[in-house]
Amino acid sequence: MTEVPTHMRPRWVDFHCHLDLYPDHELLIKESDREGVATLAVTTTPKAWQRNREMAEGSQHVRVALGLHPQLVAERASELPLFEKELPGARYVGEVGLDAGPRFYASFDQQERVFVRILQACAEQGDKILTVHSVRAVSKVLAHLERVLLPERARVVLHWFTGSAAEAKRAAEFGCYFSINSAMLQSPKHRKLVSGLPVERLLTETDGPFVDNGGRPARPRDVAATVAELAKMRAVTPEQMALGIVRNLGALLRR
Ligand code: MN
Repeated sequence: MTEVPTHMRPRWVDFHCHLDLYPDHELLIKESDREGVATLAVTTTPKAWQRNREMAEGSQHVRVALGLHPQLVAERASELPLFEKELPGARYVGEVGLDAGPRFYASFDQQERVFVRILQACAEQGDKILTVHSVRAVSKVLAHLERVLLPERARVVLHWFTGSAAEAKRAAEFGCYFSINSAMLQSPKHRKLVSGLPVERLLTETDGPFVDNGGRPARPRDVAATVAELAKMRAVTPEQMALGIVRNLGALLRR
């Protein structure tokens, strides 16, 4: 494996951001490149994929993920064939997953069918990296991953993970990474959970624009504050933590 030249290497990682939901999408791509933020632009429907790809073409640090958000499955399940058609051209997949929260529980069976189809297609094609939503459905998500997805066929990042310590252990044993955002670190319960995650599996994310940062939607460069907070929690310097997270991303992409 050749080393990436230092000037090409990112300084920060935002592994889950909805760039296309900001009015200044194009500016955010430039900002990510300028600030050296390796940003994964997730999409919520496969229809958004092509446009996102065009926007990020030529970007050094922005990559685009093909998604079908579990909260949209009730209205957008008909886009699954489009998802499957585009998947061979996508290395990154997300946002996908399951949401058993009260607002989306009615579509849960349908969400499971869609998620399993997506996982099966990823397993068949191989070399995919997924960012997965698991609100109130961590054990179901893990059960599907373990059943359908051989760890060598795909890599999984659990985004905004809020499961139990036992579920975190189970996820880590499967090979999952965890992308941590600033909102997660506001809750004492989730801070405790994050403190127990394996340090070599930590990534950062904003989940912008859904996460607020001082009265405005979080932007990719705001991961710096999350890195600083994680550093404090692990008693290392922010520089060490930032470097560790960039290395974790490198390991995820190489495996
Ligand atoms: Mn999201």
